Amino acid sequence: MAQTLLHTAMANFEHAAGLLADEVDRDVIAKLRQPKERMELSLTPMLGDQKLHYFRAFIVRHSDALGPAKGGIRMTAGVTLDDVNGLAMEMTWKCALIGTPFGGGKSGIVADAETLSKIDKEKVIRSFAHNAARHIHPQVYVPAPDMGTNDEDMGHIKDTITFSLGVSTTQGCYVTGKPVILGGIPGRREATGNGVAICVEKAMAALGRKTKGATAVVQGFGNVGSIGARAMADKGMKIIAVSDIRGATTNAKGLDIDALARHVAKTGSVAGFAGGEDINGAAMLEMPCDVLVPAAAGGQITKENAPRIQAKIIAEGANGPTTPEADEILIQRNIFIVPDILCNAGGVFVSYLEYTQETQQEQMTEQMVVTRLQQRMSERFEKVYNLSRERKLHMRPAAMYLAVKTVCEAVKARGYLP
Ligand code: NAD
Repeated sequence: MAQTLLHTAMANFEHAAGLLADEVDRDVIAKLRQPKERMELSLTPMLGDQKLHYFRAFIVRHSDALGPAKGGIRMTAGVTLDDVNGLAMEMTWKCALIGTPFGGGKSGIVADAETLSKIDKEKVIRSFAHNAARHIHPQVYVPAPDMGTNDEDMGHIKDTITFSLGVSTTQGCYVTGKPVILGGIPGRREATGNGVAICVEKAMAALGRKTKGATAVVQGFGNVGSIGARAMADKGMKIIAVSDIRGATTNAKGLDIDALARHVAKTGSVAGFAGGEDINGAAMLEMPCDVLVPAAAGGQITKENAPRIQAKIIAEGANGPTTPEADEILIQRNIFIVPDILCNAGGVFVSYLEYTQETQQEQMTEQMVVTRLQQRMSERFEKVYNLSRERKLHMRPAAMYLAVKTVCEAVKARGYLP
């Protein structure tokens, strides 16, 4: 049976809890095992066929010790409440590790974003925003895009909220990852993928390898995968294979990422790209390469394929792409892993910049965003890497140690009442 994202999140947490056994209160660890709030909503919008449709939706706030819960909205046919719980928990650690005053949350809408028409998708998103209105607030839970949702959807969420309030804009930031014209921040859409590429460059340097000319394989060509591939290519890397849910393409000389993006915009998939050769997406993960970037669903690197993975570095653009069982195999095989809570934290860091910009009614330029992202990702990578060297830990436990410790300190500082 496929491992759930909750199983992965819990296993990583228990490992960190073990490392912190002598440093933090056991009751605080017990508190953090459970989400603060875990709820299910029923959405029943009328779609284009003039019928009411039923969609399940979930919101989980795992912890708000450090601040309002932050985390994206996943819209896929298979998302479960447990997945959202695991992803919310992971957001708690990610926000702490990257140094933002946010807790962890996540939402899920059980719907296939790829098969809904544009207008039906907008209706489902607006229905979610309307039904979740009591839970979305700058001081409670601030959503953002995740798999199946994008900046346009975040614009519709802002519009639904302002419409309900009878105003043109909100006081404070209710949602991040919005179009720039609606108070979004330049560089947010690219932030996660660019952050992944910054981590790849740092990991290559840590292993004494040159980025220029190194090869990368990318699973997923959505927001994170396409921008990550573009950013790695800009650093002189050869992207030798890319997949999406429908297929995969390879070119040993390096794929032309701009041409591939145009092909995907036209056809909806990387399959059939004239500048590459179609291959099997699962086999692609096992291709020899310097860097493998999973940037799609969770649970893709398992105990079955981990023994055959030939990458030197795995940079986790996706959330929870590696099962705990696979993790052990990869560690034994000396593969350097940049864990998700570090590798893909660029998105939530820039969401924080969007949040502060909106709260303070300021405007930041794209250059300011790019500079701050580069600084923060580099600094946090080094912090995790240095701890991993000092304590002889691998990168994931080192990152989790720092993150869980920070959240425990915040819980303690608040006090244990009520
Ligand atoms: P997206 O919806 O924009 O793109 C997802 C891509 O993955 C698509 O190309 C899809 O075809 C592909 N895909 C889905 N299942 C696949 C499979 N089994 N095999 C191969 N390809 C598959 O989503 P996104 O926003 O790019 O998110 C991708 C991952 O990154 C998710 O795990 C998400 O949680 C994580 N993430 C996203 C952000 C963000 O800012 N968007 C931030 C942090 C983490």
